[in-house]
Amino acid sequence: MEKNKKERTKERIVSAAIVLFRENGFDATTVKEITEAAEVAKGTFFNYFPTKESILQTLIAERLTAVTALMSEDYFKKKTLLFKVERVIAELLADYNDNPELTVKMWVHSLQSDQFIHTYWEDLLDQALQLNELNPDVCIKQWSHLINSQFLYGLVMFADRQPKHKVIKQMMELITICLQAILEKRGNHHMHKLVVLGGGYGGMRVLQRLLTNDLPNNIEVTLIDKMPYHCLKTEYYALAAGTESDHHIRVHFPDDERLKIKYATVEEIDLENKLIHLENDDAFSYDTLIIGLGCEDKYHNVPGAPEHTLSIQSMEATRKTYETLSNLRPNAVVSIVGAGLSGVELASELRESRPDLTIKLFDRGEIVLSMFPHRLSSYVQNWFESHGVEVVNKSNITAVEENTLYNHNEPIHCDAIIWTAGIQPVEVVRNLKTDKDEQGRVKLTPHHHLPNDENVFVVGDCASLPHAPSAQLAEGQGEQIVMVLKKRWNGEAIPETLPKIKLKGVLGSLGKKHGFGLMGERTLLGRVPRVLKSGVLWMYKYHSG
Ligand SMILES: Cc1cc2nc3c(=O)[nH]c(=O)nc-3n(C[C@H](O)[C@H](O)[C@H](O)COP(=O)(O)OP(=O)(O)OC[C@H]3O[C@@H](n4cnc5c(N)ncnc54)[C@H](O)[C@@H]3O)c2cc1C
Repeated sequence: MEKNKKERTKERIVSAAIVLFRENGFDATTVKEITEAAEVAKGTFFNYFPTKESILQTLIAERLTAVTALMSEDYFKKKTLLFKVERVIAELLADYNDNPELTVKMWVHSLQSDQFIHTYWEDLLDQALQLNELNPDVCIKQWSHLINSQFLYGLVMFADRQPKHKVIKQMMELITICLQAILEKRGNHHMHKLVVLGGGYGGMRVLQRLLTNDLPNNIEVTLIDKMPYHCLKTEYYALAAGTESDHHIRVHFPDDERLKIKYATVEEIDLENKLIHLENDDAFSYDTLIIGLGCEDKYHNVPGAPEHTLSIQSMEATRKTYETLSNLRPNAVVSIVGAGLSGVELASELRESRPDLTIKLFDRGEIVLSMFPHRLSSYVQNWFESHGVEVVNKSNITAVEENTLYNHNEPIHCDAIIWTAGIQPVEVVRNLKTDKDEQGRVKLTPHHHLPNDENVFVVGDCASLPHAPSAQLAEGQGEQIVMVLKKRWNGEAIPETLPKIKLKGVLGSLGKKHGFGLMGERTLLGRVPRVLKSGVLWMYKYHSG
């Protein structure tokens, strides 16, 4: 009872003091004013607090209790050092937005007068050491002082009417630069380097599944891509036809502090020495590698095709195709070689975007999309006929020259020729010294790694799988690769065979209003598959951020 009364009196003094500190500032508030506001005698005040500053000590103790609770949470323990430091600072500055001046005063007072806040930084550094985030030689005391001094410096320098999140951001920039010395240059020798080559559909899904709460702390993930964002390849036909903007088909790579993104072109993969050779750069080493570099055109040894045709297999090439098509004069002739999914989508989209052009679609089969049910192929073939696209069936392109296409050796004048007649893995993958299938795709074990190297996985169009390459296949495979890796890291058994990758079917567009689809045995034609296709794209962009 007596104790409660004492506590209540103490609380009253603290509450009154805080109100006055907020209203008048800490320095301008006197003990007399506090005792009057708390309705206690001056002597009573000094029974609890030897000085006015010691009230700050009570506030500090409250915040540190919250930090202790935070640090004991399981999810927190698994995070990286920088994440933890940032969360602790956010907790220390919990009241900052309500009372910036008092918060600064409180921590400056604590840091100048006491050592105990160091123990929190020491604990975090110690945990990072245990998790191999830091070099074993790191002097914990010295580095805890460094974090502390950056915290104090940041507080004094940046806490000038800025909101809390900005102050923390600037502090973290300072702290991150300092800690790079032990995390980057030395610490990383103890981290397991997982490198993902290519942030396409396969690479993106790998990253999304890797960067979850259960990613072990000692795994350092790096993505290397020649593009600064994930490009939606399935929409390249629309970019080329000028019906979608460049911006519309880009998605940001994941924004996660555990992911490093390197913007570079891969030139060679040296499996023997575990090195990636980059254009204009040093070699980049890895412990585990996931190759998802996608595919490029296959020209089937048709002379002149690589030099004289346009492409929609990469973003750079598609931009060039768009530019050429956009600048064509009215009634110009555009030939599209290959009437698979991408050729069909491009021809129909271009038809709608440029009704003035003469469009010819060259197809090897008796009917376009001959691998699909007849009802679907004839619907698509009829669509082209009714929309004035000339489909040249049973064609055989024997050579290409500038502005001339040879079909069965017959020359046809064209103002632009676009090649959509076959794909193969990118050259870097074709050059890998490992077994490939007839399409040049890398042969893998059922766990998606090289037969003689369990640390090198291949995902997407570069991988030899029992299905035609597609974005959904790349994603399904990416998920399985991460599942294998996580089980391996956790020491769990990996089943000998993995479940079949579930594919939902094919959806194709015929311009913006019509489409076609095959879902299992079901053929979809007309508006419904077109709407579904737009929905799938919307969902993909929504879920990919
Ligand atoms: C017009 C068109 C329409 C399509 N429509 C569909 C569809 O409707 N449904 C479907 O499932 N599939 C579709 N596909 C196929 C689908 O796009 C591919 O199967 C899918 O993109 C493969 O994914 P990936 O991860 O293997 O490679 P990609 O998505 O091609 O990604 C490869 C990544 O590697 C990067 N890269 C390549 N080379 C290098 C290098 N040397 N250095 C650094 N980075 C590099 C690229 O920048 C890219 O980010 C379509 C394809 C096209 C062309």
